[in-house]
Amino acid sequence: MTGLRVGIVGLGAQMQENLLPTLLQMPDIRIVAVCDSDRSRAEQINRFVSHVMITDNFDEMLASAQVDAVVMACPPQAHRDLAFKAMARGVHVFVEKPPCFTLAELEELIDASRRSGVVTGVGMNFKFAKPMGQLRQMTGTEQFGEIVHIQLNHYASKPTSPLWGLDSTLRSFLLAQAIHTIDLGVTFGGGELRNIESRVQRHGDSLLVSLELQFTTGATVSLLSGTMFPYFEFDMKIVSSNSMMVELNNLWNITMHEPVHGTSATGAGKRWRGAWQPGPLDSGYERSGYFGELEKFFAAVRNKTAYEASFESLRPTYRVIERICDADAVRPDLALSA
Ligand code: NAD
Repeated sequence: MTGLRVGIVGLGAQMQENLLPTLLQMPDIRIVAVCDSDRSRAEQINRFVSHVMITDNFDEMLASAQVDAVVMACPPQAHRDLAFKAMARGVHVFVEKPPCFTLAELEELIDASRRSGVVTGVGMNFKFAKPMGQLRQMTGTEQFGEIVHIQLNHYASKPTSPLWGLDSTLRSFLLAQAIHTIDLGVTFGGGELRNIESRVQRHGDSLLVSLELQFTTGATVSLLSGTMFPYFEFDMKIVSSNSMMVELNNLWNITMHEPVHGTSATGAGKRWRGAWQPGPLDSGYERSGYFGELEKFFAAVRNKTAYEASFESLRPTYRVIERICDADAVRPDLALSA
């Protein structure tokens, strides 16, 4: 088997630390070209792979390397601009998050992907993290019942100034961090988004975002996020119609709370909680979702099927991001101090 010919774009921290090591574990993927606008960065590929085309010019890569797919980890404006070019040549595209800055830009990317018929993907690795798969299995059972409410807390300490040439710290934070959590709310909420309410509080350079979502399934999401926290933490609770509650802490520990639990070993235990953790030998890339996201993306490319974290899948998440920014623009009176 010759494998899929893959070009990588942007050999910065995220590519070197997470995506490239994951790609190198995939036997049927051949990295044939590397592009970085900083050529000395692109040359660092020699530490990992040999016999690879190295360039600082994406057009040249597309014209000469005969790639089936590109995997990018650049600033969002490069994801957007280079994705248009790749799609126009029928090349499948996987970009790190965020794929672009606004909902309007995302709609243009979705249109272009439809016209070209390529598979698109965004690096929503939280969604593919191993504990998340376990959580999906647990909440998908008849015994668990319907998902009624999802509570998400995503604590961060940055960014406290705008990123990527944007003029808004709020939009930068939403695109850099909260995009993962909003997307999880949308994924577990199911159905269509019916209502979005949000509030942004500020103190100095830090901000706090409270968000309430309602879905046509009847499920609600309550999300607290922001940069007003000492460090990164993430937790999630899902409440079911059968009075069960499953809790995920830091993409690691899952605790299932059940009203009554009976086995021959435990008897009929009230206030029962059961725990799940990834195995100690699971690789970090599997646990954190990088392996799962790329494996499923390339499976979609090979089978010519849609990929779960496509450009299109992010439409509700970008709708939420726009609404948070719009609501903040008309109600900028919630600053805790000047
Ligand atoms: P970085 O600055 O370390 O790397 C970006 C690289 O892209 C640099 O080498 C730069 O020279 C190159 N580049 C910029 N414009 C280019 C262009 N037009 N053509 C080719 N190369 C270009 O940044 P990073 O920390 O690696 O982040 C990259 C992306 O990964 C960002 O979008 C970020 O949001 C994302 N990221 C995602 C996660 C996650 O949780 N999934 C985590 C970290 C970073």
